[in-house]
Amino acid sequence: MKLERFVSKHTEYSHKDARLLVASGRVTVDGQVCRDLKRDISQFQTVYLDTQPLQERQAYYLMLNKPPGFLSATSDPTHPTVMELMAPELRAHLHIGGRLDRASSGLLILTNDGLWSRKLTDPQRKSPKVYRVTTAYPVCPDTPDQFARGIELRPENLITSPAQLELLAPDQVRLTIYEGRYHQIKRMFAAVGNRVVGLHREQMGQIALDHALAPGESRPLTQSEIASVA
Ligand code: URA
Repeated sequence: MKLERFVSKHTEYSHKDARLLVASGRVTVDGQVCRDLKRDISQFQTVYLDTQPLQERQAYYLMLNKPPGFLSATSDPTHPTVMELMAPELRAHLHIGGRLDRASSGLLILTNDGLWSRKLTDPQRKSPKVYRVTTAYPVCPDTPDQFARGIELRPENLITSPAQLELLAPDQVRLTIYEGRYHQIKRMFAAVGNRVVGLHREQMGQIALDHALAPGESRPLTQSEIASVA
């Protein structure tokens, strides 16, 4: 919303008076006087008229090293959720950008910025998601080729986008996929006669799990991590 409209919407002033207030330098955006009537104001900018706050809403962007056993949900009657690992004062604000199954671990991103998280998880962007996968049986020599060609997923009746598989041990791989369908990795391995017994997300787009985070720990994203989802 443009600043002139924002000011009239958040005060008793008419649109015309709001323009005058902005032009006379009485409105600040993120601590700076802003006379630009057409400046776009996002939901997370701080806007003041003199000393009166018109909007103060902080954006939160966090990464969590999710331990296995926690549901990627805001609440659940039976299982502990990842929200229980977050600071109590943040819980009510946050949602999850890209879920992990309950048994899976690793990088989980939480935010209160819906526009940003939609970009993070937008399948059209084909952004890479990197997982370390442990399998029940040794990975067959054909599997990298099969995953690169695409695996048919039923019941959707679709072929997965080409995925890259790097062998780390006979029963452990690093897998990069470019979409995020329901239980996708488990279903891809099931389709080639194997079974996933461990799944750990290492990266989403440009954002890599911070190795300094122990399971259950979280930290705010850096400015460049946030900006990488543009
Ligand atoms: N694919 C799965 O099967 N599970 C996850 O948690 C993530 C991707």
